[in-house]
Amino acid sequence: MNETAFERIEIPTPFHIGSMNCYAFLGADITLVDPGPATDEAYDTLRSRLEAEGYGLDDIDRILVTHPHMDHFGLASRLKAVSDAELLAHEDAVDQLADPDGYLAREQAFFEPFLASMGMPEQVAGTTVELPEPYATFREPVTVDETFTEGERVDVGDELEIVHTPGHSPGSACFVDPVDGTAFTGDHVLAEISPNPLLTLEPGTSEQRTRSLPTYLESLRRLRKLDIDVGVGYAGHRGTIPDVVERAVEIVDHHHDRKEAFADVLEADGPMTAYQLMRDRFPDLPATEMFPGMCEVIGHLDLLEDEGRVEITETDGVRRYELA
Ligand SMILES: [Zn+2]
Ligand SMILES: [Zn+2]
Repeated sequence: MNETAFERIEIPTPFHIGSMNCYAFLGADITLVDPGPATDEAYDTLRSRLEAEGYGLDDIDRILVTHPHMDHFGLASRLKAVSDAELLAHEDAVDQLADPDGYLAREQAFFEPFLASMGMPEQVAGTTVELPEPYATFREPVTVDETFTEGERVDVGDELEIVHTPGHSPGSACFVDPVDGTAFTGDHVLAEISPNPLLTLEPGTSEQRTRSLPTYLESLRRLRKLDIDVGVGYAGHRGTIPDVVERAVEIVDHHHDRKEAFADVLEADGPMTAYQLMRDRFPDLPATEMFPGMCEVIGHLDLLEDEGRVEITETDGVRRYELA
């Protein structure tokens, strides 16, 4: 099997994380794994890189989406408009891809009172949920032509096996080449960054949040338990991961340490709200980091709750955590 059947195309994004990686399989068929955000810069970068290889954007046959975040899928709609490309994604990503504005509105409606119930002052909660709005221009709604599910294989020249890895986002998937054990990991596993499993709505609901961190850790463990030995990983950002399984173990350990640090604070100063815990651990967080910060705290509280180590009491609609 040809191991260099694809090209890594580094696409600029307007986001703090910097560029993202689009992977282009260039053979009889052209398949892109994650095209990038909906910006002219991303479009032009992709076009010139494909042209350098002797292809046009209209030659694209297939687009695989690792997860429904705009730095990865935003451009898909424009590419579909100039090619006959089919879009493939996990079924839990379909709603967010098809109607990102509606999805954001449902998230805002849920998370504003939710964050208040976690001890965040109401006004801060209001601002926090409105902050993503200006970024709406970097994604365009796109229809999924075909959904894929766990264990299914997609032929992109090589066969890639779908591994469902929710956590960083619902509908997240890794694409594993069973022949050489390489994996396209999206944002599920990154070489230098520990992805923040952001809280979202449980797919198909408007009233239930995901327990993103426990789900994420479970997805990391599943990558380690596959029949396929996963080695090198091609990530959604930054460099190649030398050993995906080793990196997954590192990330699991990192969250274990963080969880114990939160438990120590609760032991010393509990009962506390998630918001108080966040202020304690990250006192100087800018407004733009409030939501990720709350997700970080609540994720670790969820782990402690799953282990039966915290008691939760609710007074006047606000939840407080203490060690059991
Ligand atoms: Zn992401
Ligand atoms: Zn990303």
